[in-house]
Amino acid sequence: MVDSHRKFELSENIASVKAAMATVPHHDKARLVAVSKYKPAEDLLHVYETGHRHFGENYVQELVEKSAKLPIDIQWHFIGHLQSNKCKAIAAIPNLFVVETIDSSKKADTLNKACLSCERKEPLNVFVQVNTSNEPAKSGVLPENCAQVCQHIHGNCPQLKLHGLMTIGMFGRDPSEVNPDFKCLVDCKEETERIIPGLDLELSMGMSGDYLKALQAGSTNIRVGTTIFGSRLKK
Ligand SMILES: *Cc1c(COP(=O)(O)O)cnc(C)c1O
Repeated sequence: MVDSHRKFELSENIASVKAAMATVPHHDKARLVAVSKYKPAEDLLHVYETGHRHFGENYVQELVEKSAKLPIDIQWHFIGHLQSNKCKAIAAIPNLFVVETIDSSKKADTLNKACLSCERKEPLNVFVQVNTSNEPAKSGVLPENCAQVCQHIHGNCPQLKLHGLMTIGMFGRDPSEVNPDFKCLVDCKEETERIIPGLDLELSMGMSGDYLKALQAGSTNIRVGTTIFGSRLKK
């Protein structure tokens, strides 16, 4: 595809997501993360040129490569499964905004240590990923362990800033009903804030298929890939 066509298409797509977000009351508090996994750096640059700054990536190697060649004022979200042996590579990215996928206290400790050795200037934002649908194949802490892991981070990981909770949720939920994954994450937030006073946790929930529903349910951080960039080829 000719570059200018692609640029036009991407700017239309992101504008239409932002317009849809604007129809939801209190949407202005929410952040749109453009999920760019598998997409070429040129695509991200086109979206960047519309003024957009928050991008999400799933794979460490891909994030390391893209962050090295794209503008330094991009705010990167790591949203993939976090392996202990990749924590250092992640922590070394200076313009990493948040790691959304902390799935145990041990992983938080490993990332905390990695941040120390990288001498990051500010504590690194983290979200605790919650397996709200209780699916064995999904990462994340079980809802009943969420507050405990949050408490661990809050009390024991000075290089990390506990900033929110994240869920992927079950694929194919009935869109006409209240999504139980969203409700579960809201409950986890309330329970955690009751145990650790003074927190105001963000909620990262909602993707291409359900981001408006997620905003209505209280999401502050939606992660939208396909609707902006088009479908992805499998690796
Ligand atoms: C790929 C991905 C998304 C984006 O999904 P779309 O349906 O393409 O919008 C959001 N969150 C996570 C964790 C992902 O891996």
